[in-house]
Amino acid sequence: MKKPYLRAFGGKEAATYPISEVRYRSDDGRTLEVDNCLTPLAAKQASALRALFDKRLMSRKPLDKSGVWRYREFLPAFKPFDAVVTMEEGNTTIFDMPQCARFCGMTSLLAKHQGLNPTGSFKDNGMTTAVTMAKKLGATMVACASTGNTSASMAAYAARAGMMSVVFIPDGQIAYGKLSQSLDYGALTIQIEGDFDKAMEIVEDLCNRGTIYLLNSINPFRIEGQKTIMIEMLHQLGWKAPDWVIVPGGNLGNSSSFGKAFDEMLRANFIKKAPKIAVIQAQGANPLYNSFISGDRTLKPVHANTRATAIKIGNPVSFDKAWFAVESTGGIVEQVSEEEIAIAKSKVGRDGVGSEPASATTIAGCRKLVEKGIIRKSDNAVCILTGHLLKDPDYTVEFHRDELYLDAQRTTTLSGTQRISTGGNGNKPVKLPADANKIMSFIDKWNSSK
Ligand SMILES: *Cc1c(COP(=O)(O)O)cnc(C)c1O
Repeated sequence: MKKPYLRAFGGKEAATYPISEVRYRSDDGRTLEVDNCLTPLAAKQASALRALFDKRLMSRKPLDKSGVWRYREFLPAFKPFDAVVTMEEGNTTIFDMPQCARFCGMTSLLAKHQGLNPTGSFKDNGMTTAVTMAKKLGATMVACASTGNTSASMAAYAARAGMMSVVFIPDGQIAYGKLSQSLDYGALTIQIEGDFDKAMEIVEDLCNRGTIYLLNSINPFRIEGQKTIMIEMLHQLGWKAPDWVIVPGGNLGNSSSFGKAFDEMLRANFIKKAPKIAVIQAQGANPLYNSFISGDRTLKPVHANTRATAIKIGNPVSFDKAWFAVESTGGIVEQVSEEEIAIAKSKVGRDGVGSEPASATTIAGCRKLVEKGIIRKSDNAVCILTGHLLKDPDYTVEFHRDELYLDAQRTTTLSGTQRISTGGNGNKPVKLPADANKIMSFIDKWNSSK
């Protein structure tokens, strides 16, 4: 059996490197991926492994309780698993979403909520593996550029591992829920002038000088952990693949990891069929969509602009890997407007679930793909809700007060020129006198107007 190694992604004669070599790109600038050298399983072996995964659900061992490490047969690069830094990540709920289904014109619709992770986003699924590798490699300081969730997750896992962490965030463009996390978990938090793409450029430069280990999704060990989101989903669905998995696209690490998960599970004969991957981008941050529509596979960066800050990324690092994910599964790329995102987000809330704005691109995208006849009404689809509602409370309150602006300026009150409409879905707070009779009659009126 061959041991896992690193390989340059794409290209004809891909360069290879040992797992223990600290590097983030090949000499010719390509991203790297882990080749896990998984051996194909006979039907009997596959069903034994499925039974083992079931058995681990009853276990009290930390590795078994984690929704990432439970599936460690697909993570051989981290063997012998003695350095694992885990917070029982994963184990996220798949919700039935009747309001969203109706909104999308579907018979039914499921949502797997990665916002239910320890730090409130799917970044934890990849951070547990990447920080574990950092520990194995002897790193004492880790860093990332982040629109917020990567830094929150990295800061938490670094704290658990006793490492220093340094966070680079775009000046004034980060949601407060996320910023508060990296401060509280003790990361050195550096706001730099410029957007995410600029911050990414600088942190890659710094990490290439040695001493600091880079934990953005260019790090192939993040992608390894995020694969388990799909493994866990299939496990929860009794290994019956849905027709579609719908995921937001920013830096495109998550889309890429889903593609890799299905590719490996198919090659290993562990599953027979993979879902189609639909990547949804915000219209203001849509380089993959542009490429998909034109068929031109060279990345043409855009200047990103969207209130869904988690996907406000114009020069995505995992562009080529995301292309593979979409193409190898027969999937698609779609884009949605700010209003479509905002209204879809309110529908996620009405199912009693809620999410941050970037996650709602999946519901907005699903509706659009149903309208276009690409997703059928009766298809089984799972939307990936990537982050928790409480990550960006400002957005939600501004929406319901009908004060959501693409170019929001906060002086004493909110203002801007590009208002994002609620489409009648706002739920404004009301001010009433402290008088029970008046309040009762207001409630009666409100109730009969529904
Ligand atoms: C990071 C993030 C995304 C984007 O994921 P990529 O892997 O960068 O494409 C989407 N939504 C949320 C909430 C995120 O934190």
